[in-house]
Amino acid sequence: MKEKALKIIPLGGLGEVGRNMMIYEYDHQILVVDAGLMFPENDMLGIDYIIPDITYLAQNRDKVKAVVITHGHEDHIGAISHLLEEIPAPVYATPLTRGLLEAKLARKGSGSKFSLNTVNAGESITVGDFKVEFFHVCHSIPDGVGLGITTPAGLVVHSGDYKFDHTPVDNWPSDYAKLAEFAERGVLALLADSTNAERPGWTPSERVVDAALDKVFREAPGRIIIASFASLISRIQQVANAAQHYNRKLALMGPSMVDNVKIARKLGYMDIPDELLVGIDEALGMKASEIAIMCTGSQGEPTSILGKLSVGPARGLEVREGDTIVLSSHAIPGNEENVYRTVNRLLERGANVIYEAIAPVHVSGHASQEEMKLLLHLTRPKYFIPIHGELRHLKQHAILGNLVGVPKENIAVLENGESIVFENGQMRKGDRVTSSYVFVDGSGVGDVDPEVMRERALLAQDGIVIVNIHLNRLNGRLQEDPEIITRGFVLVREAEPLMAEARRLITAAVNNTRGNLEHELHEVVSNFLYSETRRRPMIFINITK
Ligand SMILES: [Zn+2]
Ligand SMILES: [Zn+2]
Repeated sequence: MKEKALKIIPLGGLGEVGRNMMIYEYDHQILVVDAGLMFPENDMLGIDYIIPDITYLAQNRDKVKAVVITHGHEDHIGAISHLLEEIPAPVYATPLTRGLLEAKLARKGSGSKFSLNTVNAGESITVGDFKVEFFHVCHSIPDGVGLGITTPAGLVVHSGDYKFDHTPVDNWPSDYAKLAEFAERGVLALLADSTNAERPGWTPSERVVDAALDKVFREAPGRIIIASFASLISRIQQVANAAQHYNRKLALMGPSMVDNVKIARKLGYMDIPDELLVGIDEALGMKASEIAIMCTGSQGEPTSILGKLSVGPARGLEVREGDTIVLSSHAIPGNEENVYRTVNRLLERGANVIYEAIAPVHVSGHASQEEMKLLLHLTRPKYFIPIHGELRHLKQHAILGNLVGVPKENIAVLENGESIVFENGQMRKGDRVTSSYVFVDGSGVGDVDPEVMRERALLAQDGIVIVNIHLNRLNGRLQEDPEIITRGFVLVREAEPLMAEARRLITAAVNNTRGNLEHELHEVVSNFLYSETRRRPMIFINITK
């Protein structure tokens, strides 16, 4: 009898860092793994984040049986409400991840509407023809899992984000035994995290950060302000430990950080005594040497606490001389400029700023090359598909896979939307599905299309010029001199001769118009400004009568 095919389709996270989403499809049943967001690149102006295109899922909504989430980072859960609003399938996650999902959905006002289910690492669920085994992996957030997905077409191992840390902060190493057991059963395909595929060696243990934090706490004369991701639960625990050791109280700033700590403490994933924590107002009244503050904004995001602190006060806190500020995270690719701008501003304010480049105040939560090879050896897959990463990471991971013995023709480097099919134990490329960028801007999803993005880029590049014309209703002549307003184009004071000449040309054009005045003026102004400045601002002609 001919076997049915297993189809695997990445909807996000391949060829980019973020918005991870993978589709497993077998016999009219779809399992979705992760629903993440991606932070915009510098040239995507005014965009809050980008989510996967779920058109394919919407077209096949009746097939979607379950959503499984590997861990609580934004690049894996950030699009959950967008997904569930469209396709309210049951969600399965470990206790901490589930708690973070719940909080996220509650913030969107849709807390209890959806079916959230808890599965512990080591347990499994059966969804239609899929059996999904959750196995523990170390990462920079507790309670992360990889998945062993058994289908009638074979066993697929999906790594999630992982590293092989022998001394993790929560003392819970990755489940090596389970991985070896998978190999015993025979792994059809391995899909594994490629984020650090360019890094040789092993990723250092999270414990390395303890020593760096210890040094900061030992030497800091005044207040200590540590910025990180709200979801870096292990890091927050490490800071709490250091604060306790050096008799400082800890204040948390940023709603997402406060929420996440509350959830993680309640579920037993953090060990922070009540008396260690103080509110920010109380902290501000204490002696500088008795306080540590942890906040969001390690990526220099302008709306975050650290972003605000770099330009002025936030919630009554103002950076001053004697403060020690630690950026405990790695700049997401594309964000480096933001991060260093923030560092410079904080230095300008007299703070001592410590960041990854000058002290090991951060280690990666992702496997390096030797760990990737170990995972391949442990699971011994027939086929290998690198996931999570830009093309360079995926390609490098493919090379590693080949190095440890997976034949080249058994390795598939895919793009988002490109499907791969397993049938009778063989792999082949399948159809393509839609997988474009979906921009989220404020609370609107998809209101911003590439055309709007192009306009924003133009505005940012060359600014804007508005020409106000007031015509006499009877004779169509100018009622008064044309008014030219510019923003971000030229320095108004220095450009007076340029503007005077522009006004002269506009007046002439009005007097000699042959019909479409708006169009003619646009042409005249645009050509003139380009010839004088070599720049193309956006031009608006505003005619009133
Ligand atoms: Zn992660
Ligand atoms: Zn990730």
